[in-house]
Amino acid sequence: MPDYDYLIIGGGMTADAAAHGIHEADAAGSIGIIGAEPHPPYDRPPLSKALWKGEPEEKIWRKTKDTGAALEVGRWVTAIDPRGHGASDDRGTTYRFKKLLLATGGTPRRLPLKTDQIIYFRTLDDYRRLHALAAHDVRFLVMGGGFIGSEVAAALRMQGRNVTMLVPEAGVGARVFPTDLSAFLVDYYRQKGVTMRMGEGMAGLEPRAGSCVVRTTTGGELIGEVVVAGLGIVPGVELAEEAGLDVDNGILVDEFCRTSHPDIYAAGDVANFVNPALGTRLRVEHEDNANTMGRVAGLNMAGRATPYHHLPFFYSDLFDLGYEAVGDVDARLETVADWKQQFREGVVYYLKSGRVRGVLLWNTWGQVDNARALIAEPGPFTAKDLKGRLPVTTETPPPGSGGSP
Ligand SMILES: Cc1cc2nc3c(=O)[nH]c(=O)nc-3n(C[C@H](O)[C@H](O)[C@H](O)COP(=O)(O)OP(=O)(O)OC[C@H]3O[C@@H](n4cnc5c(N)ncnc54)[C@H](O)[C@@H]3O)c2cc1C
Repeated sequence: MPDYDYLIIGGGMTADAAAHGIHEADAAGSIGIIGAEPHPPYDRPPLSKALWKGEPEEKIWRKTKDTGAALEVGRWVTAIDPRGHGASDDRGTTYRFKKLLLATGGTPRRLPLKTDQIIYFRTLDDYRRLHALAAHDVRFLVMGGGFIGSEVAAALRMQGRNVTMLVPEAGVGARVFPTDLSAFLVDYYRQKGVTMRMGEGMAGLEPRAGSCVVRTTTGGELIGEVVVAGLGIVPGVELAEEAGLDVDNGILVDEFCRTSHPDIYAAGDVANFVNPALGTRLRVEHEDNANTMGRVAGLNMAGRATPYHHLPFFYSDLFDLGYEAVGDVDARLETVADWKQQFREGVVYYLKSGRVRGVLLWNTWGQVDNARALIAEPGPFTAKDLKGRLPVTTETPPPGSGGSP
């Protein structure tokens, strides 16, 4: 029976970051990682960006081996036993642990249709399948106007493919961006050659002569050879729930990433934590959180008490536009836009009761830490106070590098 000081369930970016955190604090401790995918941990963001622009696949692998962790890939953990400090997998192996981390992330939300014709884009294998299909001159239907849908549609279009986006909301990124920016993106995608079907979702799908016929919620019909769905994820809470841990939109953790069981931790996309600057609980599905929270969870598991007070940032690239964002960027909040060039370069502030809750840095780089500092300020702020508050600095650094520790 494999017996580890530290057992990590989930083989993603959080798992890798946690192994590094553990190794940093306790180099002699034994670490086991069990992951369902047939690969060692890798970076997910390039799957919808850099790999389509020619970055080689070798670049995505994380340096998990440096931590000395034993990697068990292609195994699904079916149950954990908090009291007995054990976990068992789908091949009948039982593992023992002193400390356990749940880094189970999330799985793509699925449509209520039984078909393997839809690619739910999340993993390296999904990327490989779509990339191979993109070598052919076929029609792609991309569902969803959130991060995955908008990035995948751009990536496919940049290969010169015929792409239609089917978006239930009125604009692209409608849950995040102010209405005018979200509407601008619809036109922008159209100019790039993407067919935009706004206010339409998928109601049904059937195969017809080697193609898929998609029936839309407004009674329309679309035909494509490949359907890609980006409908968000459902956090992987089943193991925690069945073990009786506290769960509410993710696995609830304290500031040391500890669940309701003292020897079990959770981090990354699956974890629901308190952020002091915002004064609320958050569950964040982004890279900076996976990396930073994963490491902090590892440090805590190995006895180096380290509160997780970090406010994660995220980023995305849409053709030649790019942005970084931090805090609560929710389109339902009051927004104040400070454009240097409208919809091209600028800063959008998200406010609630006069406090800045989130900041969108649109083609504006190197301001993430300043945005975090602004969110920590009590305010109150008016629109006038915020004009010019953060400089619009389009020069450096490139997307994705903005100020995370
Ligand atoms: C295509 C794509 C592009 C992205 N781009 C960006 C970006 O530009 N910027 C940004 O900030 N973020 C981006 N993200 C989000 C970011 O990648 C995620 O926040 C991050 O991957 C979360 O890592 P995680 O390890 O917590 O969860 P996951 O990545 O979901 O990994 C969890 C792993 O655990 C495994 N697992 C789950 N349950 C079990 C079990 N019971 N037994 C064994 N294994 C299990 C899963 O198979 C999975 O491999 C992107 C995500 C995707 C998919």
